Amino acid sequence: MNCQECHDYIDPYIDNELDISSTILVKQHLRDCPECQQLLESRKAVGALLDNPQIRFEVPDSLLGRVQSALPVPRSAVKQRSSSRFVLPWFTIPLALAATIAVMLGLAFLNQEGVFDRSQGNALAQEAISSHVRSLLATHLFDVPSTDQHTVKPWFDGKLKFSPPVHDFAERGFRLTGGRLDYLNGREVAALVYQRRLHIINLFIWPSESGRNTAAENLTKDGYNVWHWDRDGFAFWAVSDVNAEDLRAFADLEMQQS
Ligand SMILES: [Zn+2]
Repeated sequence: MNCQECHDYIDPYIDNELDISSTILVKQHLRDCPECQQLLESRKAVGALLDNPQIRFEVPDSLLGRVQSALPVPRSAVKQRSSSRFVLPWFTIPLALAATIAVMLGLAFLNQEGVFDRSQGNALAQEAISSHVRSLLATHLFDVPSTDQHTVKPWFDGKLKFSPPVHDFAERGFRLTGGRLDYLNGREVAALVYQRRLHIINLFIWPSESGRNTAAENLTKDGYNVWHWDRDGFAFWAVSDVNAEDLRAFADLEMQQS
């Protein structure tokens, strides 16, 4: 991410309106860029001023009347309410928003946990998505942050009982940005991290049980795309919020390596 992109993202970043991968990219840029860090501080200072509960916004009677007339409330109740005066402090709006988002997030996770496990594939896809989300939420994306496949691959030596294939596709728009150990399918697996524009791709790799080569299969859940294939004795699970075609292009690049 460059400074211009960071500037474009700074307000939604402060308001927690960015998706997880964009949030991480902004965070990474801010860590390395004092200018953008300064911009963040000044925007936050303005935000803090506006959050001051002493600053109040009085709802005009005309607006109050319009809101009430739009509500399906009995006439007697409207009469009672119109005698009271509405004063909305500024901070109630962000608080209400935060509460709504918290409830939505809670529901999203409930949905993820409550998903039907009709096949092992679905269960594994769900596990892969959960690991992907966890890696972004905990911002534990990397044990070995590096764009060099010759640094990332040997890092796994001695940490796993297998040596995962590691390739960089930066010139095709999928930059390797590092790797880490993760736990999936009841075992330790390699997680390679790629960047596609502002999106993060996690590629989970472990020795396949069948040992056969399979065609890539696509699953979509909760806005995440998953492509899965077996190749050369390894099981591959690619997870991201990039669109299915982009992730398929990534899977094709990886499959062509064997
Ligand atoms: Zn910057």
